[in-house]
Amino acid sequence: MKVYKFGGASVNSAERVSNVATILERFPDDDLVIVISAMGKTTNALEKVAHAYYEEKKEEALGLFDEIKKQHLTIAKYLLVTHYLACEARLKDFFTEVEWMLHDAPVREFDYYYDQIVSVGELLATCIVSFYLSERGIRNQWMDVRDIFRTDDNFRDANINWEFTQQQVDRQILPLIKEKKWVVTQGFIGATDENESTTLGREGSDYSAALFASMLHAESLTIWKDVESVMSADPKMIPDALPIHSLSYNEVIEMAYYGAQVIHPKTIKPLQNKNIPLYVKCFLDADLPGTVIHDNISKDLPPIIVIKENQVMMELKTKDFSFVGDAHAYQLYQWFNEHSLRPTLTQNGAISLIFAFDNWEEKISRFSSAAAEVFDVHVTPGLTLTTIRHYNKNALDQYVGEKEVLVKQQTLKNFRALHR
Ligand code: ASP
Ligand code: MG
Repeated sequence: MKVYKFGGASVNSAERVSNVATILERFPDDDLVIVISAMGKTTNALEKVAHAYYEEKKEEALGLFDEIKKQHLTIAKYLLVTHYLACEARLKDFFTEVEWMLHDAPVREFDYYYDQIVSVGELLATCIVSFYLSERGIRNQWMDVRDIFRTDDNFRDANINWEFTQQQVDRQILPLIKEKKWVVTQGFIGATDENESTTLGREGSDYSAALFASMLHAESLTIWKDVESVMSADPKMIPDALPIHSLSYNEVIEMAYYGAQVIHPKTIKPLQNKNIPLYVKCFLDADLPGTVIHDNISKDLPPIIVIKENQVMMELKTKDFSFVGDAHAYQLYQWFNEHSLRPTLTQNGAISLIFAFDNWEEKISRFSSAAAEVFDVHVTPGLTLTTIRHYNKNALDQYVGEKEVLVKQQTLKNFRALHR
C-alpha cells in the first residue's frame, strides 16, 4: 500500500488533471490512497471570500465565490461526459453549503468561518478528480476525509485526534483497499466531533498524507511536485543548484530548520517514526528519478545552500556591562514568545547577545522597545543570512567570499554568515 499526494499545481487545469490520471495508470498493481489539494490557487481565492464575508461585504463574497464555482464547473465540463451530471450535482451541494453561510451575517470568530469556507477547495478538487478517474475507467472511491480525520476545534491550526482517526482509517479505508479500490481523498482538512470543518494550517496536505501513510503502515509516501527533485539550493536564487537524489530524514529536518523550503518537519516526523520512505517526484516527467528521503545516512552531499534575505541583526548589550546570564536569556526567550519572534541566528558573548530575525518590522520594533528597558539595543536591517551545510572551500569562496560579514559561525557541518 502506498500513499500519493498531488499538490494544487498538479491539478490546476483540465490538462493537469488528465496528467494525474496518466501518472496513476503507470501503477495498476499498486494499492493507493491518493491525497489531493485544492486546484491551483483556489485556497488563496477562498481566503478572499472568507475575508469579504467576515467584513460583511456579502455581495463581494458571493461574487468571488462565483468565480471559483465557474472555474471548477468549467474544468469538470471539459473533462467529463458520462459522469458530468453526477459530478455537477456533487459540486453544487458543496457550493450550496458555502452560499447558505455567506447569506447569514457572521456571529462567531473569523477562524471558524475561514475553515468552513476554505475547506471546500479540497472537496471540489477531489470530487472532480475522482469522477474523472472513473471516466477513464480507473476504479476509485471518493472519500470525505472529514469522516476520518477528527480534530479539536482549534480552527485554522487544528490538532488531530490520533486514536479516533486511526480507528476510522482502519474501519473505512482498509476495507476499500482490500476491495482493490483506490481511495481519492483530501489533505489539509478535518472535522470536529460536532461536524464542523477544520483546517490544519496552510500547506497542510503533505502532513495529512504523511499521517495517512503512518496510520496505514504504508510502504511509502510519494509527493508529486512540479520540481525535478529536492535541490541543493533554491534554483531561483542559484541557477546551478544540483538535484539531490537521496537524503536522510534528519538532513531534511536540518535543511528546513535553516530555512530551506523543502518538506516541512511536521511531515517528516510521522514518516520517520515508522521508517516510511518519502519520495519526491516530478508530475511533469514521472520518469525523472526525483528524491528519496529515508533513514539512510546521506552520503556525498553537495554543499547545500540556504539564503535568507531581508534579515535584521539585533545586538543587545547589558547597560551596566555586567555579564549576560541565564536570567537575561530566559527573559529574552519569553519576550520572543510573546512577540512570536523566532531568531534565525543566535550568538552569545560575555556582555552582549546577537540575534538575527526575518524582518517583521512591527514585531521587531515592539520587541526592541521591550528589550530597551534592560539592554542597549542596536538594530541593523538589510542583511542576508547564508547557511552552507556540508561546506567546502569552493562554496565558501563562491557564496560568502568577498561579502562584508558581520557574524560568522562555523561547525563541522555548517557554515553560517550574516552579511551585507
Ligand atoms: N490547499 C491548501 C493550501 O494551499 C493545503 C495544501 O495545498 O497543502 O495551503
Ligand atoms: Mg499545496
